Amino acid sequence: MDLLEYQGKQLFARHGVPVPEGRHATSVEEAVAAADEVGYPCVIKAQVQIGGRGKAGGIKLARNRDEAREHAEAILGMDIRGLTVHELWVERASEIDSEYYASVVFDRSAKAPLLMLSTKGGMDIEEVAAEDPGAIARLHVDPLIGFQEFHGRRLAFEARVDADVVRPVAAMLAKLYEVFVSEEATLVEVNPLIVTPSAGGDGAAREVRALDAKVTLDDNALFRHPDNSELRDLSKEDPQERMAKERGLTFVKLDGDIGILGNGAGLVMSTLDVVAEAGGRPANFLDAGGGSKAEAITNAVQVILSNPDVKAVLFNIFGGITRGDEVARGLIEAFHQINPQVPFVVRLDGTNDEEGRRLLAEAKLPNVYTESTMDGAAQKVVELAREAEAAAA
Ligand code: GDP
Ligand code: MN
Repeated sequence: MDLLEYQGKQLFARHGVPVPEGRHATSVEEAVAAADEVGYPCVIKAQVQIGGRGKAGGIKLARNRDEAREHAEAILGMDIRGLTVHELWVERASEIDSEYYASVVFDRSAKAPLLMLSTKGGMDIEEVAAEDPGAIARLHVDPLIGFQEFHGRRLAFEARVDADVVRPVAAMLAKLYEVFVSEEATLVEVNPLIVTPSAGGDGAAREVRALDAKVTLDDNALFRHPDNSELRDLSKEDPQERMAKERGLTFVKLDGDIGILGNGAGLVMSTLDVVAEAGGRPANFLDAGGGSKAEAITNAVQVILSNPDVKAVLFNIFGGITRGDEVARGLIEAFHQINPQVPFVVRLDGTNDEEGRRLLAEAKLPNVYTESTMDGAAQKVVELAREAEAAAA
């Protein structure tokens, strides 16, 4: 799950990562009130899950209330590379001496978190990596030992950060690592991490701050972080995937036109392969789970058919804990409730398969074809999808 900048900064603040003070707003009036509260000059920032907001005009400095209003009006509703801006973050403007880059990512090949630091911040890090790979210092952290003070010092030294900010930069890396581990993130990225000018000529120390925040949380760990799961941006999720999630189904949307349902992740995966092999394109992955009851089947059919691309549906059930007669009853019930307009191919095998097939035959459901093998079922459903496509054309 990707967080918006302000959500990432709120996590940062909880862990002591220095961030500018800010307020969230969803309307022009709220933004103006927020600007008055944080004070001027302030920065009005579009909250969308995409980088390069600055270049796209989604980040503007306001020196007074009129400018705050003007910028909020311009940015709300703006389209940034296909995403509409519905939310703003209004924050105290920062003075910038230098822009650095810092991140913690999970490096799967090394089975360890990887810390990166560069003094070439504020620009696309992929560009830096391509043009000047030496400008990015990297260091793996042994997850069992955790972040040690020397990690921060070594990275700061290798990245050649200014000597006066080695300490605060190293301290920030330690806290970013803490965010990464304790919030169970897979990415924590700060670009830019800024160094502020020293205040006046009195030699006051320069400070560091996270000016941007990009955080990806591990979805599989969200159940351990109930506060974080509330951060989910529902407006961004695919409505069909949300519908499936609300019904407790394991569902992944794909871009084809053959709806798929099976019981057990392994069986569904092989069903996708067999359909592809037969020349078809699956519209989804849907695992109705072991012991699929009638209600789960009805739910699953509704979710599959909520995708208008679906031209035919394949049910591939291998009865173990799941009973074939239960699945058949679910399908019959679903047909009575939603009266599907597309053909269904059902392959029913295993526990109570005969009874299931008998129930289906007796129900005389229109447009339902039973097959006894997986390959036969895949071929049939691909054929039916082709026919439907030809009929529509
Ligand atoms: P991104 O373009 O989506 O990555 O958004 P960022 O939050 O990283 O902002 C982009 C750029 O805007 C930064 O690299 C800064 O140069 C500039 N910027 C953002 N906030 C401030 C601020 O408070 N003061 C100043 N001077 N520049 C800022
Ligand atoms: Mn940025």
